[in-house]
Formats: sequence, C-alpha cells, structure tokens
Amino acid sequence: MSTTAYQYVDGEWIEGESDDEITVRDPADPDDPIAAFPGASQAQARAAVRAADTASASWAEAAPVEREEVLYEVADRIDAAQDSLAETLTREEGKPISSSRGEVARAAEIFRFFASQARTATGDTVPSNDPETFTYTVREPLGVVSLITPWNFPIATPSWKLATALATGNAVVLKPSSETPMIARRLVELLEAAGLPGGVVNLVVGAGSTVGDELTTHEAVDGVSFTGSTATGQHIAETVAERGLPVQTEMGGKNPLVVLPDADLDAAVDTAIAGAFGGCGQACTATSRLVVHEDVASEVTDAVVERAEGLSLGPGMDDPDMGPAVSAAENETNAEYVEVAKDEGATLLTGGGTPAGLEDGHFIEPTVFGDVDSEMRIAQEEVFGPVLGIIEVADFEEAMAVANDVDYGLSSGVFTSDMAAAREFTRRIEAGVVKVNGSTTGSQIQMPFGGMKASSSETTKEMGKRAYEFYTHEKVVYRSDP
Ligand code: NAD
Repeated sequence: MSTTAYQYVDGEWIEGESDDEITVRDPADPDDPIAAFPGASQAQARAAVRAADTASASWAEAAPVEREEVLYEVADRIDAAQDSLAETLTREEGKPISSSRGEVARAAEIFRFFASQARTATGDTVPSNDPETFTYTVREPLGVVSLITPWNFPIATPSWKLATALATGNAVVLKPSSETPMIARRLVELLEAAGLPGGVVNLVVGAGSTVGDELTTHEAVDGVSFTGSTATGQHIAETVAERGLPVQTEMGGKNPLVVLPDADLDAAVDTAIAGAFGGCGQACTATSRLVVHEDVASEVTDAVVERAEGLSLGPGMDDPDMGPAVSAAENETNAEYVEVAKDEGATLLTGGGTPAGLEDGHFIEPTVFGDVDSEMRIAQEEVFGPVLGIIEVADFEEAMAVANDVDYGLSSGVFTSDMAAAREFTRRIEAGVVKVNGSTTGSQIQMPFGGMKASSSETTKEMGKRAYEFYTHEKVVYRSDP
C-alpha cells in the first residue's frame, strides 16, 4: 500500500493534515485497499490558493510560446506513460483497460489541442469610428482558478480544465474526486516534470466538505470550473455567484435516444447498448432513456435485451465489455433504483442483480426496464449506472415530448433515415448536445461541450476553440493618439 504524499502545494509534495482518511480501492476487488492517506486540511487548501495567487502573475506574463511548449511536453509525457497511466486509472476507477488507454490518449490529445490556445486565444481588432482611435479587445487570464472534478473520466476531465486554464495564463488548484486521486497525482507529476513552475498548478486531495469552501470562497480565487453532480454543482454555483465570479458547472444528465420506425435498427441497438452500458453507465452523457416508436418497439426491445445479456463483465484489467461500478455507494444506488423502478410498475426485462462469480466487486448486471412511463423516477432521475429504461411512444410528437420531459438537458440522440424528422428533433430538443444517428456519449475535443437546463450553468462551454473564453477576461481598449 502506498503512503506517498498526495498534496502538491507551491511546488512541494506534502502529506495531508486533516482527520479525513482517503482510501483508494479497486472496485473489482475492494477488500484490499490500494492506498490510504490523510486528506488535505482546510489550511492546506488555503495555502494552495495562496501559492497559486503568488505564482499567477509570472505565469500570466510568460511568453505564450513558453506556455505552449510546456503543454506539448505534458502531452508527450502522457503518451510515453500511456500503459501505466491506463493501469492506474483502471485499478482505481474500474473501467476496462482498453477504455482507460483511450482516455489517456485523449488526455494527451487535449493537451495538444489546448497548447495552441496559448497563442490563439486572442481578442479582436475592430474598425473604429474615429481614425485616430485604435479599437481592439484583449483576453487576459482570470488569475487563480479552482478546478473541481469527478471520478468517471479522471484523467480527461482534469486535463481539459487544466490545459485550457494553463494555456491562457492562469494558475490553478485542482481538486479531483477522492475516488480517483492516484491518476490525478500522476497527471500533476507529469505537469511538474514538464517544467511547470511551482505554484502554477496545485493539487488538493480532500473531502469536498473540508476543502471545498476554501476553493470557492477564498478571496484570491478568481473563477471556478466544476464538473460533477447537479446537487454539488448548484451549491458551488450559488456560493461563487454570491461573489460575482465566473463559475462553470457541468452536471448530470438523463439522456434520451429516440428510435423512429425508419431507423437502421441494428445501428440503433448497437448505439443504445454502447451508450447505456459502456463505462458501466457512468458517463454524464450515458443513454438512460430509450424512446422507441411503437411500430418497432418489440423488435428493438428484444434486440437490446439479447445484446445486454451477451455483454461480458469482469475486472477492468481483463478488458471486459463492462467493468464494475466505482464504489459500494454507487452500486447501492444502482440496486436501489432497480427496486424503485420495480415498485413503480416498470418491467425488469433483464439484469438488476449481481453477476455470478463477481460477488466480491461492485458489479451489477446490465439492466433493462420495459413499460417505463416518463413520470417514473427511473425516467426522471440520474442513476449513473448501467440501467436503461425503454419508453414506448405512439409518434414523433410524443417522442419529442418525452425526450424533453426531464429537468436535465445534457445530451440526446435520434435514429432515423428521415432527415426532416432529424432536423425537427435537432431544433426542438432541449439538450446541449444532439446526435443524429449517433450515440448520446462521445464528443470531439474541437467541438464545444456543455448542457442546458439542470445539466449546466450554460456559461461558456468547455472544449472547442472558444473554451478559453471562460478562463479569460475580455478587456476592450480604445487607444487614441495624443
Ligand atoms: P460529485 O458532485 O459528488 O463530486 C464532484 C467533485 O466535487 C468531487 O471532486 C467532490 O469531492 C467535489 N465536491 C463535493 N462537495 C463539494 C463542495 N461542497 N465544495 C467543493 N467541491 C465539492 O460528483 P461525482 O459523484 O464525483 O461524479 C458523478 C457526477 O458527475 C454525475 O452526476 C455526472 O453526471 C456528473 N458528470 C458531469 C459531466 C458533465 O460534463 N456534465 C461529466 C462527468 C460527470
């Protein structure tokens, strides 16, 4: 068991000083902890913010090419360590090793994409009404930004926040989920090795209740970017908004995949299975509602159930189709929702139990419910596990109504060969991401990402070529000749 320090403050690795014990477990084999260490104290979180504050001016003034070079170096180092990073990720988060390799490769791609923003996050030169006045805008870093991240994409999510914030000249404090501190530490080690000056990046691993307030209310914090659950995100958004600071919150989803009768049904079923059960359903964009036209409902339902029953399950290191839930608590929530759905009258078509031979880990079978009504909790609340509800609808209008009948609005999809219907769906769906003949999951780094309604603060989006906007002030300059 490792006891190496997990807190990185002002360029030093130090032990946590709080009474919170953080225990890292392999979700496939949780009895033997992989690591246990004390979480950061409030005072240490405060020290991390102060260190970032002290370091922020020189990083902001560093030549863009210098910031860019460090971030390219990080990308190269991530690539070079791909296999061992993937193993670290799978051991603490549980996802299949091939998915972890993909996520690590994506992290490198993210650093490469955003490295170039060091030089391209520019303002505008605007025609002036007065020929003696030069009018332009500049983008300047916020200063100190707190980055708070969940466990489900534990290297990709910190990477896209870190890379954008650092490229644009901010100093940061990263607070990863306590479920996945090992991969966060390895990422910060790579940033340090790539030459990032001490204090520009700080790592605080601790309980949200202990360190969270310091990272959101300290007077030196100039902005907060959060990804996680809607409950935590709303709390943070309110706290930060009271100070009038920029806050970005990307939160939960209840993502519908609509299947119309003219769809390529094989493709729709493949996509539903991947979207619902890939990553054990632990994606904010996971497909959790399959909204199917009644003409094809029984065919699609039978195929989904058959495919779900054919998925292989096991420890992530064995590279199955589906790994375990991240923790006992998450898997208990999954089991509770299975009971809730049954009690509400949904029909359990497959799954819902613990797979044979995997009783020691946090495993649950891929689960499909039929006879789901839109007002049931299983159709309204984010389960964040491998539980798919099939909702049968009579026509396109009902499909639209059901798809939009939730508080969330993150991702969505429609399968159809009727492009007029696809266009109508794209126009009317209340979701930040729309896929036509594609999965609710998955995104490209060069495309913006974010939701609507309770899924997102709907400030500037993450990723894409304008992701830097959140991390910068826009200053408007009128410069006249004397
Ligand atoms: P969570 O909200 O429990 O935790 C997220 C982070 O917030 C963790 O680092 C946690 O320690 C921290 N935190 C908790 N309380 C805090 C406080 N008071 N102050 C500051 N920080 C605090 O979420 P989770 O269980 O880690 O992740 C799963 C959730 O994340 C799901 O709801 C999922 O939909 C969502 N998610 C959203 C996106 C997106 O882009 N929309 C992406 C991935 C995950």
